[in-house]
Amino acid sequence: MNDPQQTSITVEVVYRGIFQKTLAQRICRSIVLAARKRGHTGTAFARYGDSPERNGVPAKQFAVVAINDLELEASMAKYEPAVVDVSIAVDDTLVKGVESWAWYGRQPIWKPVRKDGFLLVTSTNTPDEVLAQTDTALRPYTLVIVPGGASFAGLWVFKDDHTDYRCLGALAKVLPDWVRLEDVKALIKEQTKDEGAVQSAQYGYDGATLRPVKAGEGTSGHEVLQFEKPGWTTMRPGIVVDARKPGERNPQYKKYGARTLRPVVNFDTCIKCTMCWLDCPDECFEVTPEGHYEVVYQACIGCGICAQVCPVKDCIVMVDELKFEDNEDKWQFWKKDHDGYNKWFEEKSGVSADPKVRTPAARQEGSGNANPSANPTSASGGDD
Ligand code: SF4
Ligand code: SF4
Repeated sequence: MNDPQQTSITVEVVYRGIFQKTLAQRICRSIVLAARKRGHTGTAFARYGDSPERNGVPAKQFAVVAINDLELEASMAKYEPAVVDVSIAVDDTLVKGVESWAWYGRQPIWKPVRKDGFLLVTSTNTPDEVLAQTDTALRPYTLVIVPGGASFAGLWVFKDDHTDYRCLGALAKVLPDWVRLEDVKALIKEQTKDEGAVQSAQYGYDGATLRPVKAGEGTSGHEVLQFEKPGWTTMRPGIVVDARKPGERNPQYKKYGARTLRPVVNFDTCIKCTMCWLDCPDECFEVTPEGHYEVVYQACIGCGICAQVCPVKDCIVMVDELKFEDNEDKWQFWKKDHDGYNKWFEEKSGVSADPKVRTPAARQEGSGNANPSANPTSASGGDD
């Protein structure tokens, strides 16, 4: 599984901004500490361009492990690794592509993963379900599902749900020459004195599902958004910020890669109060000719504030991003096909479009809210 000639390996952890920063740090540091137990050397570091790490904006941290200091130094000559052996995505909605601060366009999640490398994704979905939302592969790699959902916490708090231990166990399964399971378990035992934590690493190892992905597999449904970076000779003089007319959006700046949940709107129950439009921090709402407010999904980061401030119960419902294939705005759909839209709303959200009909179980599922930025207490607005 591993190349015996290889003298160093690079692992990246792709995570959602401040909600998973501590988790990413713990994984990267533990990779290095576990590798040191078998005589390797290594270092863990963060990517400079992601310092803002706002809300759920994708960011990266790295662990580089080498057979000796010289090889480590050689690997570190690359300030930011462009090619990695393993990418660990600690939220499965990241497979829809990542676009971060200082990056250039939405990138496929597997972009830096070398040929025959590994993409580890924490998920409760099957490998094929995750692959169905992952960009078409240009080279073969192995998709590895690490059992468990996305773990979200905050900058100064850490949710100790053993996601890091499961990821380390799964990593030991795919890179046994670099990170051994016994070293991972010994490290966790030293750090926590908790047998349950040790068992979580074993669970990650045993429960990790490997799905070889051939070139051509995946979805071509995601928007291609790449940029040519100008060289020194082709740069325009000075800083030029193209002006936008009022109401016009920057076609080159998309924020949907930050989203784990998206708001869906029941236009039938909307009372046109303007609260969502006023409070959305990213100015995502457009007013329709009838005075409704529709979400511009290209711009929405999925923070959930609109659902919190909406005074009408279940008028805006936050729904798992993996349930959607596109970023099309939906008011035209509702306008042209009222019943079809309401059926779509119910299917996606698990909430009845008719406020007189309540489906408590389905509503709970549809409102499932893993993102602490999206409605900490409730996934939908209005009084209970
Ligand atoms: S979830 Fe709502 S408030 Fe947050 S960015 Fe999207 S539309 Fe705006
Ligand atoms: S907050 Fe809710 S009721 Fe008010 S305009 Fe927005 S969607 Fe309609």
